[in-house]
Amino acid sequence: MNILVINAGSSSLKYQLLNPETQQVLAKGLCERIGIDGKFTYKPEGKQAVKEADVAMPTHSEAIKAVLDALVDPANGVIGSMKEIDAVGHRVVHGGEKFAKSVLITEEVMAAIEECNPLAPLHNPANIIGIKACQALMPSTPMVAVFDTAFHQTMPAAAYMYALPYEYYEKDKVRRYGFHGTSHKYVTQRAAAMLGRPIEELKLISCHLGNGSSIAAVDGGKSVDTSMGFTPLAGLPMGTRCGDIDAGILQYLMNKYGMDIDKMLNVLNKKSGVEGLSCVSSDFRDLESAAGKGDQKAALAQEKFAYEVRKYVGAYAAAMGGVDAVIFTAGVGENDKTIRSMVCKGLEFMGLKLDASANDVRGEETVISAADSRVKVLLIPTNEELMIAIDTAALAK
Ligand code: ADP
Repeated sequence: MNILVINAGSSSLKYQLLNPETQQVLAKGLCERIGIDGKFTYKPEGKQAVKEADVAMPTHSEAIKAVLDALVDPANGVIGSMKEIDAVGHRVVHGGEKFAKSVLITEEVMAAIEECNPLAPLHNPANIIGIKACQALMPSTPMVAVFDTAFHQTMPAAAYMYALPYEYYEKDKVRRYGFHGTSHKYVTQRAAAMLGRPIEELKLISCHLGNGSSIAAVDGGKSVDTSMGFTPLAGLPMGTRCGDIDAGILQYLMNKYGMDIDKMLNVLNKKSGVEGLSCVSSDFRDLESAAGKGDQKAALAQEKFAYEVRKYVGAYAAAMGGVDAVIFTAGVGENDKTIRSMVCKGLEFMGLKLDASANDVRGEETVISAADSRVKVLLIPTNEELMIAIDTAALAK
């Protein structure tokens, strides 16, 4: 079965054609600067990547047409015709409380996704444009929506409610939703496979540490708490996002500097996090090298990040009444052994012991805890496209 996975943003579109059964990726790539000057990247398996600039793509429709043309191109294509695409899986950021699972897209589903737009005004409308463009070009191919929020819909009310007047939940849907659900679901399923135990028996803490970062407590395969909230601004400090801060800071800074709420949120989303704190970079590789040269703010940003991750690990172990394994994934989690070791430091009291030489590894599915560590520590490269393709294939069958 060949599944086309589409992740549409406002001016970009990532795609991958893959077979979820064999996990073979036939081709993948990226359309960028849609509506501007169209950049197109296409990488067929086992062949050179094709990069084109100034490709006419005024809308997502032309971008998807370019993808389909490339996939069936006689020279560089990977399939004979579009009929060989069995279904399309679309990443959709926000499913609100309506979607606790991936769904086959129907007219009613489209309307329900549109109703979630106010909850993710920058992302959902772009996802919808991607779906509509695909539907127009492939009217008889089944389409599936896979939501970033769906996996976390199993959280209990005590975890998802904010202590605000109840009416803001009832009338305005203000609650914790959580994101990165597709990644947390994928790595926790892989963890169960690695540990050779049914996921129903396991208490797992999944640390998705990338440019955006979130942690999830997954008990018996179900998300019971997660660090991102109503928006992806909450929880851990991230590349440029502040994570949890005292809301009173907003009033203080806005009054002092005459900032309106848009300016303030721009600071919190784009100028904060480890970049804001370090005054160096949002990239953990830059922090590591600056800290290595004695830059104290870069070292502080690393320490702050690791400290907050460690606090969540402790909190989620308490929330679940125990933990069998802690998982590291995404850009930082998969590649940064320094951060992993800083996070795990001092967790020996709860039976978690990292193995320094096993931790000296990047981007490989492997156990990095010591043999006598009661709590296993796992490094698991995430694969959101594969998870989307698996859900899509199951629903399209
Ligand atoms: P996104 O949230 O955009 O999907 P990723 O999960 O791809 O982000 O993570 C990107 C981040 O991963 C980079 O900003 C960088 O901080 C970090 N990263 C990538 N490679 C390395 C590495 N070799 N060592 C340390 N950090 C890395």
